Amino acid sequence: MVSTEENFANLLRNHHLKVTNARLEVLAVIAGYGAAVSQPVLEKLIGTGIDRVTLYRILNTFEEKGILHKVIDLNGTANYAMCSTACTEHQHHDEHIHFNCTNCHKVYCMHSYILPNVDAPEGFNIQSLNLSVNGICKNCNNE
Ligand SMILES: [Zn+2]
Ligand SMILES: [Zn+2]
Ligand SMILES: [Zn+2]
Repeated sequence: MVSTEENFANLLRNHHLKVTNARLEVLAVIAGYGAAVSQPVLEKLIGTGIDRVTLYRILNTFEEKGILHKVIDLNGTANYAMCSTACTEHQHHDEHIHFNCTNCHKVYCMHSYILPNVDAPEGFNIQSLNLSVNGICKNCNNE
């Protein structure tokens, strides 16, 4: 059986990134979180193992390379979630709807709902498209 760490190492290699312990740890924490995660929360989960600047650089690199995508939550905070395998450098293919929990403010990816293609009117350039639904998440409903 292939270990999770080996999977993450392959993910890095597939995106032409050097495998480092810090990168592997960030991937493991984000993948295990079950929702999109912000940098402050990541810092708490990872502890002192990775300093803030390194973490910031890793997140930026992962977003650029198509490993993570950024989602803005109800507080306006940037959160990071794992991309689908279809994403490559500078070309994200996971334009899906996000679920915002109004109670815990976590953001969840809803991979089965793909955003529509929007044709901008003449002279307009679209840079990003956001569509989210708000409600109460499973964890909060079970409390
Ligand atoms: Zn992506
Ligand atoms: Zn919630
Ligand atoms: Zn997402």
